[in-house]
Amino acid sequence: MGREPKTIALPDGETVPAIGQGTWNMAERPERRSEEIAALRLGVDLGMTVIDTAEMYGSGAAESLVGEALGNRRREIFIVSKVLPRHATRGGTVAACEASLRRLRTDHLDLYLLHWREDVPLDETFEAFEALTRDGKIRRWGVSNFDVADLEDAAAVSDARRIAANQVLYNLKRRGIEFDLLPWCRERGIPIMAYSPLEQGRLVQHRTITSIAHRLDATPAQIALAWILRQDGVIVIPKSSNPDRVRENRGAPDIELGADELQALEKAFPPPRRKTALEMI
Ligand code: NDP
Repeated sequence: MGREPKTIALPDGETVPAIGQGTWNMAERPERRSEEIAALRLGVDLGMTVIDTAEMYGSGAAESLVGEALGNRRREIFIVSKVLPRHATRGGTVAACEASLRRLRTDHLDLYLLHWREDVPLDETFEAFEALTRDGKIRRWGVSNFDVADLEDAAAVSDARRIAANQVLYNLKRRGIEFDLLPWCRERGIPIMAYSPLEQGRLVQHRTITSIAHRLDATPAQIALAWILRQDGVIVIPKSSNPDRVRENRGAPDIELGADELQALEKAFPPPRRKTALEMI
């Protein structure tokens, strides 16, 4: 399995492994269900214990799959789920969380995120998050798809230290956050959860990545993930329904990218030179 993945500290001092597992698009095809369950369980066996899901995924079906796969291993895992913006009112957030808990077969979430920002005033959603925290239904809360201006609004409504994470699109092709969002979060000790770290699988075809993988006796997915894992304060959550690929992704923290490889990646995927609006998938 290689060495233990590094851990990332959350603002309240809890630590989690820097590589976890995504669940978007799982539970869509009945014929893949047993493989998906095996993949999630294997990932946990290998230490990828952060499980990212959302009420949106398969309209609750992904949460139910996680509950089925890992309900009896609750203590080993760190569950992240998300409330849809249209449910994110004071009462709606509590109801959505309770429904997620039922599907996940648990009495609490480790982290609950606002999936993205829409019209509901942030203070309503955050008030509900605080009430859920007081009731023990969530351990902490955070946001997703929040750009710097959104985070500044959030920090004005609630202390920035209450925001336990910001989950955003980040991979070699989508480096915009390095300009301002990543530094903003780092200064305040807010971890980033990098979603679509493989650009939904498309990065594994890229020539620069495949040639580096060949040189380092690694796979393209491992190179793409290892590049993100170099960053402090960033958690990656690749999704795979395939146990072999889960094992492969778990190997990413063992890959050392040297100066030549990093230079080639900088050339193929240049860093941002100016502010760009946060992209979403
Ligand atoms: P990823 O970048 O994780 O890519 C997933 C795709 O890559 C799947 O098609 C998977 O196929 C394939 N794949 C996985 N591992 C490998 C590998 N080693 N080699 C080749 N292909 C591979 O995309 P996601 O969009 O799923 O992002 C990850 C997670 O982030 C999501 O599942 C979700 O939990 C979260 N997310 C959050 C968002 C938000 O708005 N907050 C938005 C998007 C994602 P297969 O399963 O067949 O292996």
